Amino acid sequence: MICPYCSSDKIVLRDGEYVCTECGTVVGYEVVPPRVKLATPVIKSRRIIALLEEEDKQTVKMKYSDMVKFYISKIARELGVAGIEQEAMRLFSVLDKRAYQGKSPRAVAAAVVYLATERARYHVHKRDIAALVNISKFTVRDTVSRLRRYVPATD
Ligand SMILES: [Zn+2]
Repeated sequence: MICPYCSSDKIVLRDGEYVCTECGTVVGYEVVPPRVKLATPVIKSRRIIALLEEEDKQTVKMKYSDMVKFYISKIARELGVAGIEQEAMRLFSVLDKRAYQGKSPRAVAAAVVYLATERARYHVHKRDIAALVNISKFTVRDTVSRLRRYVPATD
Protein backbone atom coordinates (compact mmCIF):
# COMPACT_ATOMS: atom_id res chain seq x y z
CA MET A 1 0.00 0.00 0.00
CA ILE A 2 1.31 3.45 -0.93
CA CYS A 3 0.24 6.71 0.73
CA PRO A 4 -1.49 8.89 -1.92
CA TYR A 5 -0.31 12.07 -0.18
CA CYS A 6 3.38 11.51 0.45
CA SER A 7 4.02 8.31 -1.55
CA SER A 8 5.44 6.56 1.48
CA ASP A 9 5.03 2.81 1.73
CA LYS A 10 5.34 2.87 5.52
CA ILE A 11 1.71 2.05 6.20
CA VAL A 12 0.78 0.42 9.49
CA LEU A 13 -2.48 -1.05 10.74
CA ARG A 14 -3.44 0.76 13.91
CA ASP A 15 -6.75 0.25 15.71
CA GLY A 16 -8.53 -0.69 12.51
CA GLU A 17 -7.08 2.09 10.41
CA TYR A 18 -4.27 1.86 7.88
CA VAL A 19 -2.17 4.90 8.76
CA CYS A 20 0.79 6.38 6.89
CA THR A 21 3.55 6.72 9.48
CA GLU A 22 5.22 9.47 7.47
CA CYS A 23 2.36 11.97 7.37
CA GLY A 24 -0.40 10.49 9.54
CA THR A 25 -2.89 10.14 6.71
CA VAL A 26 -5.52 7.42 7.02
CA VAL A 27 -5.18 5.51 3.76
CA GLY A 28 -7.79 2.87 4.51
CA TYR A 29 -9.82 0.97 7.05
CA GLU A 30 -9.68 -2.61 8.13
CA VAL A 31 -12.87 -4.36 7.06
CA VAL A 32 -13.24 -6.36 10.26
CA PRO A 33 -12.50 -4.41 13.46
CA PRO A 34 -9.57 -6.01 15.28
CA ARG A 35 -10.32 -7.93 18.44
CA VAL A 36 -6.77 -7.69 19.68
CA LYS A 37 -5.24 -4.25 19.46
CA LEU A 38 -2.03 -4.29 17.51
CA ALA A 39 0.71 -2.60 19.43
CA THR A 40 2.36 -1.14 16.37
CA PRO A 41 4.96 1.42 17.31
CA VAL A 42 4.41 4.63 15.43
CA ILE A 43 7.50 5.65 13.60
CA LYS A 44 7.99 9.36 14.05
CA SER A 45 8.19 11.21 10.81
CA ARG A 46 11.73 12.23 10.04
CA ARG A 47 10.82 13.94 6.82
CA ILE A 48 9.91 17.39 8.13
CA ILE A 49 12.79 17.45 10.59
CA ALA A 50 15.06 16.60 7.67
CA LEU A 51 13.47 19.40 5.64
CA LEU A 52 13.96 21.89 8.47
CA GLU A 53 17.61 20.95 8.62
CA GLU A 54 18.10 21.74 4.97
CA GLU A 55 20.30 24.68 4.05
CA ASP A 56 17.44 26.92 3.03
CA LYS A 57 15.79 26.87 6.44
CA GLN A 58 13.83 30.07 6.00
CA THR A 59 12.14 28.96 2.80
CA VAL A 60 11.25 25.54 4.16
CA LYS A 61 9.87 26.98 7.40
CA MET A 62 7.83 29.48 5.45
CA LYS A 63 6.35 26.76 3.29
CA TYR A 64 5.66 24.57 6.30
CA SER A 65 3.80 27.29 8.24
CA ASP A 66 1.89 28.27 5.09
CA MET A 67 0.73 24.67 4.80
CA VAL A 68 -0.36 24.64 8.44
CA LYS A 69 -2.25 27.93 7.94
CA PHE A 70 -3.88 26.56 4.81
CA TYR A 71 -5.20 23.54 6.73
CA ILE A 72 -6.25 25.68 9.72
CA SER A 73 -8.40 27.79 7.37
CA LYS A 74 -9.85 24.70 5.73
CA ILE A 75 -10.79 23.00 9.01
CA ALA A 76 -12.15 26.21 10.58
CA ARG A 77 -14.22 26.92 7.47
CA GLU A 78 -15.72 23.42 7.53
CA LEU A 79 -16.52 23.67 11.25
CA GLY A 80 -18.18 27.02 10.67
CA VAL A 81 -17.64 28.28 14.22
CA ALA A 82 -17.13 32.03 14.50
CA GLY A 83 -13.70 33.13 15.66
CA ILE A 84 -12.08 29.69 15.60
CA GLU A 85 -9.82 30.41 12.65
CA GLN A 86 -8.45 33.60 14.24
CA GLU A 87 -7.87 31.87 17.58
CA ALA A 88 -6.21 28.88 15.91
CA MET A 89 -3.95 31.18 13.86
CA ARG A 90 -3.05 33.08 17.03
CA LEU A 91 -2.21 29.87 18.91
CA PHE A 92 -0.10 28.66 16.01
CA SER A 93 1.78 31.98 15.88
CA VAL A 94 2.76 31.79 19.57
CA LEU A 95 3.64 28.08 19.47
CA ASP A 96 7.26 27.14 20.04
CA LYS A 97 8.54 25.55 16.82
CA ARG A 98 9.94 22.63 18.80
CA ALA A 99 6.35 21.69 19.61
CA TYR A 100 5.58 20.58 16.10
CA GLN A 101 8.92 19.45 14.71
CA GLY A 102 8.41 16.24 12.79
CA LYS A 103 4.63 16.59 12.74
CA SER A 104 2.73 16.81 9.48
CA PRO A 105 1.14 20.22 8.72
CA ARG A 106 -2.29 18.61 8.72
CA ALA A 107 -1.78 17.09 12.17
CA VAL A 108 -0.54 20.41 13.57
CA ALA A 109 -3.43 22.35 12.00
CA ALA A 110 -5.97 19.83 13.32
CA ALA A 111 -4.51 19.95 16.83
CA VAL A 112 -4.31 23.75 16.90
CA VAL A 113 -7.93 24.06 15.75
CA TYR A 114 -8.97 21.52 18.38
CA LEU A 115 -7.23 23.55 21.10
CA ALA A 116 -8.93 26.69 19.79
CA THR A 117 -12.39 25.08 19.97
CA GLU A 118 -11.60 23.92 23.49
CA ARG A 119 -10.77 27.48 24.53
CA ALA A 120 -13.96 28.72 22.94
CA ARG A 121 -15.78 26.05 24.99
CA TYR A 122 -17.13 24.64 21.76
CA HIS A 123 -17.20 20.86 21.74
CA VAL A 124 -15.87 19.10 18.65
CA HIS A 125 -14.79 15.48 18.45
CA LYS A 126 -11.18 14.87 17.48
CA ARG A 127 -12.36 12.27 14.96
CA ASP A 128 -14.47 14.90 13.16
CA ILE A 129 -11.54 17.29 12.86
CA ALA A 130 -9.32 14.39 11.78
CA ALA A 131 -11.80 13.43 9.07
CA LEU A 132 -11.74 16.95 7.59
CA VAL A 133 -8.06 16.62 6.72
CA ASN A 134 -8.11 12.85 6.29
CA ILE A 135 -5.74 11.96 9.10
CA SER A 136 -6.12 9.46 11.92
CA LYS A 137 -7.98 10.56 15.06
CA PHE A 138 -5.06 9.04 16.95
CA THR A 139 -2.69 11.39 15.17
CA VAL A 140 -4.90 14.31 16.27
CA ARG A 141 -5.06 12.98 19.83
CA ASP A 142 -1.28 12.55 20.04
CA THR A 143 -0.59 15.94 18.50
CA VAL A 144 -3.08 17.69 20.81
CA SER A 145 -1.40 16.15 23.89
CA ARG A 146 1.95 17.27 22.61
CA LEU A 147 0.96 20.83 21.70
CA ARG A 148 -0.99 21.28 24.92
CA ARG A 149 2.30 21.34 26.80
CA TYR A 150 3.49 24.28 24.72
CA VAL A 151 0.51 26.62 24.73
CA PRO A 152 -0.20 28.93 27.66
CA ALA A 153 -2.86 27.56 30.00
CA THR A 154 -6.40 28.85 29.69
CA ASP A 155 -7.68 31.11 32.44
ZN1 LIG B 1 1.82 9.73 3.84
